[in-house]
Amino acid sequence: MKIANSKVTAERLVRDALDKAKHFSDYNIFTFLDEEGAIKKAREIDEKIKRGEKVGRLAGVPYALKDNFLSPRGETTASAHILEGFTSPVTATAVEKLEAEGAIMIGRTNLDAFAHGSSTENSYFGPTLNSHDKKRVAGGSSGGSAVAVALDIVEFATGTDTGGSIRQPASFNGIYGLKPTYGCVSRYGVVAMASSTDCIGFFTKSPDDMDLLMSIASGQDPKDLTTLPDYYNDSKVKKAKKIGVVKDFDNESVDKEIREALKKKCELLKSKGYEIVELEMPALKYALAAYYIIVPAEVASNLSRYDGVRYGFRSEKSEDLENLYANTRDEGFMSENKRRIMIGNFVLSSGFYDAYFLKAAKARTLIVKEYEKAFSKVDYILTPVSPNPAFLLGEKVNDPIAMYLEDMMSVSLNLAGVPGLAIPAGENKNGLPLGLQLVGPRRSDKSLIEFSKELI
Ligand code: GLN
Repeated sequence: MKIANSKVTAERLVRDALDKAKHFSDYNIFTFLDEEGAIKKAREIDEKIKRGEKVGRLAGVPYALKDNFLSPRGETTASAHILEGFTSPVTATAVEKLEAEGAIMIGRTNLDAFAHGSSTENSYFGPTLNSHDKKRVAGGSSGGSAVAVALDIVEFATGTDTGGSIRQPASFNGIYGLKPTYGCVSRYGVVAMASSTDCIGFFTKSPDDMDLLMSIASGQDPKDLTTLPDYYNDSKVKKAKKIGVVKDFDNESVDKEIREALKKKCELLKSKGYEIVELEMPALKYALAAYYIIVPAEVASNLSRYDGVRYGFRSEKSEDLENLYANTRDEGFMSENKRRIMIGNFVLSSGFYDAYFLKAAKARTLIVKEYEKAFSKVDYILTPVSPNPAFLLGEKVNDPIAMYLEDMMSVSLNLAGVPGLAIPAGENKNGLPLGLQLVGPRRSDKSLIEFSKELI
């Protein structure tokens, strides 16, 4: 990571990033660029450096902020029409921590509205294009952030991962993406999707950059009662011996070249003396169904606050209050948002709660136990992130089930709360990046990042 010092000014780093952002404007990466604000901040850091004052560990480092992180700089829209015009009075804890170390946000990045999706095509502002092939999707929901890093516009970008939204776009664009242990990084000030699986994480170009960011962002926050004490900075790197691969994922539903990439990495690990252990994890087959019950239930609850009165957009059409709510929500949400609100309310309704939500909650417990069992046998698990590399724009956006199937190998981590690091694993014959994920037990984030260097 290039950090400002007496030789390279923060202003230079920030101006270069802004130039690149403009150069790549056709990728539709940013929903907002803050040229003036970013240069002002850079100059303040350069002044400090000139005066010989101490500057932070991220002094002058330009970064991109997924547009579901609150900060008073620019509107926070979560790429949703219903939040257009909303400027937050508060700043997310993660943003405060990064900026206290001197990181400079140059702009906000595009996502599937409210982070619902796997392609960034559900954005009100249109899709972000893949960094390696403009005819293909960036992945999602954090597509803008992933492409901003992959095209080398910024040194790092923030993301949120509720069911794969960091790992999948990272793997579609050939970079690192971490979903930390649930509770490792404060969720305060991030637009809620599903509060029991939402995680804040990063996109980077190297494991070392990831480690630096996590050492800054992790820790307990009185504003988010689900945060854990700062185990990240307290943990010692553990030596691994055994790496698991999930037998249940080695079948035709996963792209052949991805399975080959996994095998190649296993060979590499074997040559370094690690033991590869085949795991049967039958409970993981319930993960996708359980996720698409539990998450919509939480989504329906979290999105109930957008009423046209308190935030952003308000429908012009309404004569009375009831209509104001209904018309604002009808015009303001994307169809995928509405689908989730309806599924969520259905599975929570008194007639169907036991049949759907309760059952999904039980399946979730089985998945938690499945991971505990696996980690009593192996140190980490290596799996694909998604069943295929980046798909074509328009290929799945009108077929929700096909889109949901994208998440079949990523969501179980969120249900279990365990960390997962997406790592680059080469390219397919058409030059599209292939990604794998390293999964570890809860609180193993630091060791997991360190271990990923073995796979380079
Ligand atoms: N693709 C998943 C979904 O649409 C994950 C989204 C996310 O992690 N925000 O639910």
